[in-house]
Amino acid sequence: RVDVLTFGESMVALRGDGPLKLGGTMAVSVAGAESNVAIGLARLGHAVRWAGAVGDDEAGELVLRTLRAEGVDVSGVSRDAGAPTGLLLFEPRLPEVTRVHYYRAGSAGSRLGVDAVERAFAGGAPPRVLHLTGITPALGASARAACERALRLARELDVQICLDVNFRSRLWSQEEAGAVLRAWVPYVDVLVASDDELPLCLPADGTFTELPDQVRALLDLGVREVVVKLGSRGATAYTESGELHCPARAVRAVDAVGAGDAFAAGYLSALLDGAGVAERLERGVTTGAFAVASRGDWEGAPTRGELGMLGAGDGAVLR
Ligand code: ATP
Repeated sequence: RVDVLTFGESMVALRGDGPLKLGGTMAVSVAGAESNVAIGLARLGHAVRWAGAVGDDEAGELVLRTLRAEGVDVSGVSRDAGAPTGLLLFEPRLPEVTRVHYYRAGSAGSRLGVDAVERAFAGGAPPRVLHLTGITPALGASARAACERALRLARELDVQICLDVNFRSRLWSQEEAGAVLRAWVPYVDVLVASDDELPLCLPADGTFTELPDQVRALLDLGVREVVVKLGSRGATAYTESGELHCPARAVRAVDAVGAGDAFAAGYLSALLDGAGVAERLERGVTTGAFAVASRGDWEGAPTRGELGMLGAGDGAVLR
Protein backbone atom coordinates (compact mmCIF):
# COMPACT_ATOMS: atom_id res chain seq x y z
CA ARG A 1 0.00 0.00 0.00
CA VAL A 2 1.22 3.47 -0.89
CA ASP A 3 1.86 5.58 2.21
CA VAL A 4 1.83 8.93 0.47
CA LEU A 5 0.53 10.05 -2.90
CA THR A 6 1.73 13.41 -4.14
CA PHE A 7 1.97 15.28 -7.41
CA GLY A 8 2.93 18.68 -8.76
CA GLU A 9 5.52 20.06 -11.11
CA SER A 10 9.09 18.83 -11.11
CA MET A 11 11.62 20.52 -13.32
CA VAL A 12 15.20 20.26 -14.40
CA ALA A 13 17.27 22.53 -12.15
CA LEU A 14 20.54 24.10 -13.23
CA ARG A 15 22.70 25.48 -10.45
CA GLY A 16 25.57 27.85 -11.15
CA ASP A 17 28.11 29.24 -8.71
CA GLY A 18 27.95 32.96 -9.40
CA PRO A 19 26.08 35.62 -11.37
CA LEU A 20 24.19 33.93 -14.18
CA LYS A 21 25.06 36.55 -16.78
CA LEU A 22 28.76 35.67 -16.50
CA GLY A 23 28.09 32.18 -17.84
CA GLY A 24 30.28 29.31 -16.71
CA THR A 25 29.43 25.86 -15.48
CA MET A 26 26.15 24.68 -14.03
CA ALA A 27 25.23 21.46 -12.28
CA VAL A 28 22.15 19.61 -13.51
CA SER A 29 19.59 18.28 -11.07
CA VAL A 30 15.86 18.04 -10.45
CA ALA A 31 13.63 20.27 -8.35
CA GLY A 32 9.98 20.41 -7.37
CA ALA A 33 8.38 20.89 -3.99
CA GLU A 34 6.30 17.71 -4.03
CA SER A 35 9.05 15.52 -5.48
CA ASN A 36 11.37 16.91 -2.78
CA VAL A 37 8.88 15.70 -0.18
CA ALA A 38 8.53 12.37 -2.00
CA ILE A 39 12.30 11.80 -1.97
CA GLY A 40 12.53 12.84 1.68
CA LEU A 41 9.88 10.29 2.59
CA ALA A 42 11.35 7.53 0.41
CA ARG A 43 14.76 8.00 2.04
CA LEU A 44 13.04 7.45 5.39
CA GLY A 45 11.64 4.17 4.13
CA HIS A 46 8.07 5.10 3.19
CA ALA A 47 6.23 3.97 0.06
CA VAL A 48 5.62 7.11 -1.99
CA ARG A 49 4.01 7.70 -5.35
CA TRP A 50 4.66 10.88 -7.34
CA ALA A 51 2.09 11.28 -10.08
CA GLY A 52 2.99 14.53 -11.85
CA ALA A 53 3.43 15.12 -15.57
CA VAL A 54 6.66 15.59 -17.50
CA GLY A 55 7.34 16.23 -21.16
CA ASP A 56 8.19 13.46 -23.59
CA ASP A 57 11.76 14.74 -23.61
CA GLU A 58 15.18 14.05 -22.10
CA ALA A 59 14.53 16.54 -19.30
CA GLY A 60 11.50 14.42 -18.38
CA GLU A 61 13.72 11.33 -18.47
CA LEU A 62 16.04 13.00 -15.96
CA VAL A 63 13.14 13.75 -13.61
CA LEU A 64 11.84 10.19 -13.81
CA ARG A 65 15.26 8.55 -13.55
CA THR A 66 16.05 10.62 -10.45
CA LEU A 67 12.79 9.75 -8.74
CA ARG A 68 13.11 6.07 -9.62
CA ALA A 69 16.66 6.01 -8.29
CA GLU A 70 15.37 7.45 -5.03
CA GLY A 71 12.77 4.71 -4.74
CA VAL A 72 9.76 6.87 -5.57
CA ASP A 73 6.96 5.10 -7.49
CA VAL A 74 6.49 6.91 -10.82
CA SER A 75 4.11 4.38 -12.37
CA GLY A 76 1.33 6.98 -12.43
CA VAL A 77 3.35 9.70 -14.17
CA SER A 78 1.93 11.21 -17.38
CA ARG A 79 4.19 11.98 -20.36
CA ASP A 80 2.94 15.00 -22.27
CA ALA A 81 4.09 14.97 -25.90
CA GLY A 82 2.72 18.47 -26.46
CA ALA A 83 4.74 20.44 -23.90
CA PRO A 84 8.30 20.46 -22.53
CA THR A 85 9.43 19.63 -19.02
CA GLY A 86 9.95 22.91 -17.11
CA LEU A 87 13.33 24.36 -16.20
CA LEU A 88 14.67 26.51 -13.39
CA LEU A 89 18.01 28.18 -12.86
CA PHE A 90 19.46 28.72 -9.41
CA GLU A 91 21.78 31.72 -9.28
CA PRO A 92 23.72 31.99 -6.01
CA ARG A 93 24.11 35.79 -6.10
CA LEU A 94 25.46 36.35 -2.57
CA PRO A 95 26.31 33.75 0.07
CA GLU A 96 22.90 34.31 1.65
CA VAL A 97 20.91 35.20 -1.45
CA THR A 98 19.98 32.83 -4.25
CA ARG A 99 17.93 34.03 -7.18
CA VAL A 100 15.68 31.54 -8.96
CA HIS A 101 14.67 31.96 -12.61
CA TYR A 102 11.80 29.84 -13.91
CA TYR A 103 11.05 28.64 -17.43
CA ARG A 104 7.85 26.78 -16.72
CA ALA A 105 4.96 28.65 -18.38
CA GLY A 106 3.03 26.17 -20.54
CA SER A 107 5.18 23.27 -19.31
CA ALA A 108 4.04 19.66 -19.19
CA GLY A 109 3.88 19.81 -15.39
CA SER A 110 1.48 22.74 -15.49
CA ARG A 111 -0.84 20.83 -17.86
CA LEU A 112 -1.38 17.95 -15.45
CA GLY A 113 -5.02 16.93 -15.66
CA VAL A 114 -7.86 15.34 -13.72
CA ASP A 115 -7.43 12.03 -15.57
CA ALA A 116 -3.88 11.67 -14.23
CA VAL A 117 -5.17 12.05 -10.69
CA GLU A 118 -7.89 9.49 -11.26
CA ARG A 119 -5.30 7.04 -12.56
CA ALA A 120 -3.08 7.69 -9.56
CA PHE A 121 -5.89 6.78 -7.19
CA ALA A 122 -7.11 3.81 -9.24
CA GLY A 123 -6.11 0.25 -8.48
CA GLY A 124 -5.15 -1.08 -5.09
CA ALA A 125 -5.79 0.34 -1.68
CA PRO A 126 -5.93 4.14 -1.42
CA PRO A 127 -2.85 5.94 -0.10
CA ARG A 128 -2.73 6.76 3.61
CA VAL A 129 -1.90 10.40 2.96
CA LEU A 130 -2.37 12.79 0.04
CA HIS A 131 0.21 15.59 0.06
CA LEU A 132 -0.44 18.72 -2.00
CA THR A 133 1.17 22.13 -2.14
CA GLY A 134 -0.25 25.54 -2.97
CA ILE A 135 2.15 25.70 -5.92
CA THR A 136 0.24 23.30 -8.17
CA PRO A 137 -3.07 25.23 -8.31
CA ALA A 138 -1.08 28.33 -9.25
CA LEU A 139 0.18 26.65 -12.43
CA GLY A 140 -3.12 26.88 -14.30
CA ALA A 141 -6.73 25.79 -14.49
CA SER A 142 -5.94 22.20 -15.42
CA ALA A 143 -3.50 21.64 -12.55
CA ARG A 144 -5.92 23.31 -10.16
CA ALA A 145 -8.75 21.02 -11.27
CA ALA A 146 -6.43 18.04 -10.82
CA CYS A 147 -5.76 19.06 -7.22
CA GLU A 148 -9.42 19.59 -6.52
CA ARG A 149 -10.28 16.15 -7.92
CA ALA A 150 -7.59 14.70 -5.65
CA LEU A 151 -9.02 16.48 -2.61
CA ARG A 152 -12.49 15.06 -3.31
CA LEU A 153 -11.24 11.54 -4.00
CA ALA A 154 -9.12 11.61 -0.85
CA ARG A 155 -12.07 12.76 1.19
CA GLU A 156 -14.32 10.01 -0.25
CA LEU A 157 -11.69 7.36 0.40
CA ASP A 158 -10.86 8.54 3.91
CA VAL A 159 -7.30 9.50 2.99
CA GLN A 160 -5.62 12.05 5.26
CA ILE A 161 -4.85 15.29 3.45
CA CYS A 162 -1.73 17.37 4.06
CA LEU A 163 -1.41 20.78 2.41
CA ASP A 164 1.77 22.85 2.43
CA VAL A 165 0.66 26.37 1.50
CA ASN A 166 3.96 27.24 -0.22
CA PHE A 167 2.74 30.60 -1.56
CA ARG A 168 4.67 31.62 -4.68
CA SER A 169 4.17 35.31 -5.46
CA ARG A 170 5.78 34.83 -8.89
CA LEU A 171 2.93 32.55 -9.93
CA TRP A 172 -0.16 34.28 -8.54
CA SER A 173 -1.36 37.10 -6.32
CA GLN A 174 -2.36 36.79 -2.68
CA GLU A 175 -5.96 37.41 -3.72
CA GLU A 176 -5.90 34.62 -6.30
CA ALA A 177 -4.21 32.22 -3.90
CA GLY A 178 -6.60 33.08 -1.10
CA ALA A 179 -9.67 32.44 -3.24
CA VAL A 180 -8.45 28.90 -4.00
CA LEU A 181 -6.85 27.94 -0.70
CA ARG A 182 -9.76 29.11 1.46
CA ALA A 183 -12.00 26.67 -0.42
CA TRP A 184 -9.49 23.89 0.18
CA VAL A 185 -9.13 24.33 3.94
CA PRO A 186 -12.23 22.30 4.90
CA TYR A 187 -10.62 19.25 3.23
CA VAL A 188 -7.29 19.60 5.00
CA ASP A 189 -6.21 17.51 8.01
CA VAL A 190 -2.63 18.75 8.35
CA LEU A 191 -1.90 22.31 7.25
CA VAL A 192 1.78 23.24 6.95
CA ALA A 193 2.59 26.91 6.43
CA SER A 194 4.88 29.78 7.34
CA ASP A 195 3.21 32.16 9.80
CA ASP A 196 2.73 34.82 7.11
CA GLU A 197 0.88 32.31 4.90
CA LEU A 198 -1.94 31.55 7.34
CA PRO A 199 -4.07 34.56 6.30
CA LEU A 200 -4.24 33.10 2.76
CA CYS A 201 -6.28 30.23 4.18
CA LEU A 202 -8.82 32.43 5.97
CA PRO A 203 -11.49 34.96 4.97
CA ALA A 204 -9.85 38.07 3.58
CA ASP A 205 -12.10 40.45 5.52
CA GLY A 206 -9.44 41.15 8.13
CA THR A 207 -11.26 39.38 10.98
CA PHE A 208 -8.27 37.23 11.90
CA THR A 209 -5.19 39.38 12.22
CA GLU A 210 -3.37 37.70 15.12
CA LEU A 211 -1.81 34.24 14.95
CA PRO A 212 -3.82 32.69 17.84
CA ASP A 213 -7.09 33.80 16.20
CA GLN A 214 -5.94 32.47 12.84
CA VAL A 215 -5.06 29.10 14.34
CA ARG A 216 -8.36 28.94 16.23
CA ALA A 217 -10.29 29.71 13.04
CA LEU A 218 -8.43 27.02 11.09
CA LEU A 219 -9.06 24.39 13.79
CA ASP A 220 -12.74 25.43 13.77
CA LEU A 221 -12.80 24.84 10.01
CA GLY A 222 -11.77 21.24 10.65
CA VAL A 223 -7.98 21.36 10.25
CA ARG A 224 -6.60 18.87 12.78
CA GLU A 225 -3.04 20.16 12.94
CA VAL A 226 -1.80 23.61 12.00
CA VAL A 227 1.96 23.34 11.65
CA VAL A 228 3.80 26.65 11.43
CA LYS A 229 7.37 26.69 10.08
CA LEU A 230 9.51 29.41 11.59
CA GLY A 231 12.80 29.09 9.70
CA SER A 232 15.81 29.14 12.02
CA ARG A 233 13.43 29.37 14.99
CA GLY A 234 12.03 25.90 14.36
CA ALA A 235 8.34 25.05 14.14
CA THR A 236 5.15 25.08 16.21
CA ALA A 237 2.16 22.75 15.90
CA TYR A 238 -1.32 23.69 17.09
CA THR A 239 -4.05 21.12 17.71
CA GLU A 240 -7.20 20.98 19.82
CA SER A 241 -5.00 19.77 22.70
CA GLY A 242 -2.83 22.89 22.61
CA GLU A 243 0.41 24.05 21.09
CA LEU A 244 3.83 22.46 20.95
CA HIS A 245 7.02 24.20 19.86
CA CYS A 246 10.25 22.60 18.70
CA PRO A 247 13.33 24.80 18.22
CA ALA A 248 15.45 24.37 15.10
CA ARG A 249 18.51 22.14 15.23
CA ALA A 250 21.74 24.13 15.20
CA VAL A 251 23.56 23.51 11.92
CA ARG A 252 25.87 25.43 9.63
CA ALA A 253 23.44 26.69 7.00
CA VAL A 254 24.77 26.43 3.45
CA ASP A 255 21.56 26.38 1.35
CA ALA A 256 18.11 27.19 2.72
CA VAL A 257 16.26 26.08 -0.41
CA GLY A 258 14.19 22.98 0.21
CA ALA A 259 14.07 23.28 4.00
CA GLY A 260 10.30 23.55 4.03
CA ASP A 261 9.85 20.47 1.86
CA ALA A 262 12.32 18.52 3.94
CA PHE A 263 10.46 19.57 7.07
CA ALA A 264 7.16 18.35 5.59
CA ALA A 265 8.74 14.98 4.74
CA GLY A 266 10.04 14.54 8.29
CA TYR A 267 6.76 15.60 9.85
CA LEU A 268 4.73 13.22 7.66
CA SER A 269 7.21 10.40 8.21
CA ALA A 270 6.65 10.50 11.97
CA LEU A 271 2.90 10.84 11.44
CA LEU A 272 2.94 7.68 9.28
CA ASP A 273 4.91 5.93 12.04
CA GLY A 274 2.05 6.72 14.41
CA ALA A 275 4.17 9.10 16.49
CA GLY A 276 2.65 12.01 18.41
CA VAL A 277 2.93 15.68 17.55
CA ALA A 278 6.13 16.27 19.55
CA GLU A 279 7.97 13.55 17.63
CA ARG A 280 6.55 14.73 14.30
CA LEU A 281 7.94 18.21 14.96
CA GLU A 282 11.24 16.82 16.08
CA ARG A 283 11.69 14.75 12.94
CA GLY A 284 10.57 17.73 10.82
CA VAL A 285 13.13 20.10 12.30
CA THR A 286 15.78 17.39 11.93
CA THR A 287 15.09 16.78 8.23
CA GLY A 288 14.76 20.57 7.75
CA ALA A 289 18.19 21.04 9.32
CA PHE A 290 19.71 18.41 7.00
CA ALA A 291 18.32 20.38 4.05
CA VAL A 292 19.82 23.73 5.12
CA ALA A 293 23.13 22.07 5.92
CA SER A 294 23.38 20.49 2.46
CA ARG A 295 23.54 21.93 -1.05
CA GLY A 296 20.61 21.14 -3.28
CA ASP A 297 16.90 20.82 -2.60
CA TRP A 298 16.77 17.16 -1.64
CA GLU A 299 20.23 15.69 -2.11
CA GLY A 300 21.11 15.86 1.59
CA ALA A 301 17.88 14.25 2.84
CA PRO A 302 18.67 11.70 5.56
CA THR A 303 17.88 8.01 5.62
CA ARG A 304 16.35 6.70 8.81
CA GLY A 305 19.73 5.53 10.03
CA GLU A 306 21.20 8.99 9.50
CA LEU A 307 18.60 10.90 11.52
CA GLY A 308 20.76 10.71 14.65
CA MET A 309 23.82 12.12 12.87
CA LEU A 310 23.07 15.77 13.67
CA GLY A 311 24.00 15.40 17.30
CA ALA A 312 27.34 13.81 16.43
CA GLY A 313 29.30 16.98 17.27
CA ASP A 314 31.68 19.24 15.38
CA GLY A 315 34.20 17.51 13.20
CA ALA A 316 32.91 14.06 14.13
CA VAL A 317 34.16 11.24 11.93
CA LEU A 318 31.71 8.36 11.81
CA ARG A 319 33.64 5.12 11.21
P1 ATP B 1 11.77 27.02 1.83
O1 ATP B 1 10.60 27.66 1.12
O2 ATP B 1 13.07 27.73 1.64
O3 ATP B 1 11.88 25.57 1.58
P2 ATP B 1 10.17 27.43 4.19
O4 ATP B 1 9.97 28.89 4.41
O5 ATP B 1 9.06 26.64 3.63
O6 ATP B 1 11.50 27.17 3.38
P3 ATP B 1 11.49 27.29 6.71
O7 ATP B 1 10.63 27.73 7.82
O8 ATP B 1 12.54 28.22 6.22
O9 ATP B 1 10.55 26.75 5.55
O10 ATP B 1 12.25 25.96 7.11
C1 ATP B 1 11.58 24.77 7.44
C2 ATP B 1 12.20 24.16 8.67
O11 ATP B 1 13.58 23.89 8.41
C3 ATP B 1 12.14 25.08 9.87
O12 ATP B 1 10.92 24.90 10.56
C4 ATP B 1 13.36 24.60 10.66
O13 ATP B 1 13.04 23.50 11.46
C5 ATP B 1 14.33 24.17 9.57
N1 ATP B 1 15.27 25.27 9.30
C6 ATP B 1 15.11 26.33 8.48
N2 ATP B 1 16.17 27.16 8.53
C7 ATP B 1 17.03 26.64 9.43
C8 ATP B 1 18.31 27.01 9.94
N3 ATP B 1 18.94 28.11 9.52
N4 ATP B 1 18.90 26.19 10.84
C9 ATP B 1 18.30 25.06 11.26
N5 ATP B 1 17.10 24.65 10.83
C10 ATP B 1 16.46 25.41 9.93
